[in-house]
Amino acid sequence: MSKNVSKIAFKLKKFQKYFEGDILTDISTRAIYSQDASLYKVLPIAIIYPKVYNDVKIAIKFAKNNNTSIIARTAGTSLSGQCVGESIILDYSRYLTKIIEINPNEKYAIVEAGVIRDELNIALQPHNLIFGPNTSTSNRAMIGGMVGNNSSGSYSIKYQTTRENVLEINGYLSDGSEALVSTKLIMNYNPNLVELMDKAILDCTKYNITQNKNRFFIKGDPEAILMIELDGEDEESLKLKSHNLIKSLDNQQYIYDYSILYGNDIKRAFDLRASGLGVLMNTKSEDRPVEFVEDTAVDIEDLPNYIKEFKHIMESKGTEGIYYAHAGAGEIHIRPKVNLKIEEGRQKFREIALATAKLVKKYKGSLSGEHGDGIVRSPYIEYMVGSRNYELFKRIKSTWDPFNIFNPGKIVGFNSNEENLKYKIGNSKTIPTNIGFEEDGGIIKALERCTGSGDCRKTESVGGVMCPSYQATKDERDSTRARAVLLRDYYQGNYDNSVKIEDAVEILELCLGCKACKSECPSSVDMASIKTEVLTEYYNTHKPKKHIDRMANYYDNIKIASKFSSLYNLAITTPLI
Ligand SMILES: Cc1cc2nc3c(=O)[nH]c(=O)nc-3n(C[C@H](O)[C@H](O)[C@H](O)COP(=O)(O)OP(=O)(O)OC[C@H]3O[C@@H](n4cnc5c(N)ncnc54)[C@H](O)[C@@H]3O)c2cc1C
Ligand code: SF4
Repeated sequence: MSKNVSKIAFKLKKFQKYFEGDILTDISTRAIYSQDASLYKVLPIAIIYPKVYNDVKIAIKFAKNNNTSIIARTAGTSLSGQCVGESIILDYSRYLTKIIEINPNEKYAIVEAGVIRDELNIALQPHNLIFGPNTSTSNRAMIGGMVGNNSSGSYSIKYQTTRENVLEINGYLSDGSEALVSTKLIMNYNPNLVELMDKAILDCTKYNITQNKNRFFIKGDPEAILMIELDGEDEESLKLKSHNLIKSLDNQQYIYDYSILYGNDIKRAFDLRASGLGVLMNTKSEDRPVEFVEDTAVDIEDLPNYIKEFKHIMESKGTEGIYYAHAGAGEIHIRPKVNLKIEEGRQKFREIALATAKLVKKYKGSLSGEHGDGIVRSPYIEYMVGSRNYELFKRIKSTWDPFNIFNPGKIVGFNSNEENLKYKIGNSKTIPTNIGFEEDGGIIKALERCTGSGDCRKTESVGGVMCPSYQATKDERDSTRARAVLLRDYYQGNYDNSVKIEDAVEILELCLGCKACKSECPSSVDMASIKTEVLTEYYNTHKPKKHIDRMANYYDNIKIASKFSSLYNLAITTPLI
């Protein structure tokens, strides 16, 4: 910890008495919050879990008075580095999770920032209402983060983005005073959704236990599939509509086969699509599909030419891309394969990012259709919007946040989009372990499977069993993701080796070793095997705690106890003992 950071953390800890929520400054919690689902990694100063709104106010004032900054966070599934920085992280997901009011007559709901999008919809279901914008992460993404990123997803054609579905926001300005932002609700009822999955992603789903079962509707071994959802007045009109669509696609020879799905099968198909990003990480190669030009969007008319030209960029850089998702909105997700652990890969990262920005500008598109600009897109924003508009961005930021308290270094005032990448050049040491982890090529790579997508933060009410410890405590620390982040820090010796084996053992304490992550996590992180490895290392040099020792030697202990069975029986049946 730098002197300044430790001074701020120390001072903040002393402020605990003014907070109803919790303040944590220990290395393992800070390490857990050093990442979101993006490419970036920065150790924050401290984590605050606000319990009441006054906590937020005090935190802002503290940041202002101590010349530091704040990053708000909910599920931390952002892909562009929005939740990463040397700031105080304000995690709303622990306490500020209430649905305050549902008004079925006026069709609105009042919620706190930490309400999960799918849980809101479960609560809205009895009123025949939904909150439309949906991300692939909707079973853990929270409303605060959706507003922050202006999220949307596969239903953007029908429900647009979060912005169009928000009436009012109660928030705070950088001096700690309250603000109310009001927008008009606009709902677009275009009943359509068009989602793409290419062969590279489809093939990855074959090796994921859960997703392999969701491939039930795929015929043959297609190069790509397109998922289209239609609405109809009744079953008859819907059938007619789908029949006509299939016929015209067939006439144009766009398809060679199709499946029509109803009811729960639709959900299973979309689970397959939503797993897209995660399953991509099931690769041994260091040339990983990387998220830095992922959600570029152009006019739907321009999409074929845009993709053609993008493919030329890939070829000229000697790599290839993975293509999937929102074709219907002109926003096919693209991940170029790049190895960020070598200089050559970094060079490709730079060149592809710049060439893509130029291409998007040529088509008058958007560099980020839904994931947000964060750190990764910041260097290209001035180029995209022009110097005059960029100056306006800067003025808006300095007017509303004159002390640069909120999420600094993103969009304006950024440093570099390479400095804090979580993959470091030359940092590929192999750690000798008891278990081989041959499938991945070592324990670090087994841990690097975790993309930070936060699938392990879904709650029991939205389905699935991963991760039971998170479902029980709702604490980021007890998620598979937190374990993967901290254990990587431990094995890589990050932060001057300040993450110790004791921290590694502690974070695994509530891990049941149930292997739910192995099958349910899209990246198939196998935390149970990793736990075995960590505990083996620990118990090679440490004595086990008494209760663990007793359990481990259960049969030997029972054998000894059986020699004194009458005494033992007396002991356990006598109420006084
Ligand atoms: C596998 C995968 C698929 C994804 N698919 C999609 C997709 O289809 N569509 C899409 O739009 N996005 C997608 N994302 C990105 C991300 O999941 C969404 O943008 C999501 O809505 C973010 O929600 P969150 O709760 O994780 O927010 P976080 O990541 O925690 O925060 C998002 C932003 O909001 C800010 N914020 C959070 N809470 C507050 C608050 N209380 N006050 C002020 N600011 C706040 C944060 O500082 C940050 O800038 C995907 C991500 C992954 C990993
Ligand atoms: S093995 Fe551990 S980390 Fe994985 S789902 Fe089970 S409890 Fe969670």
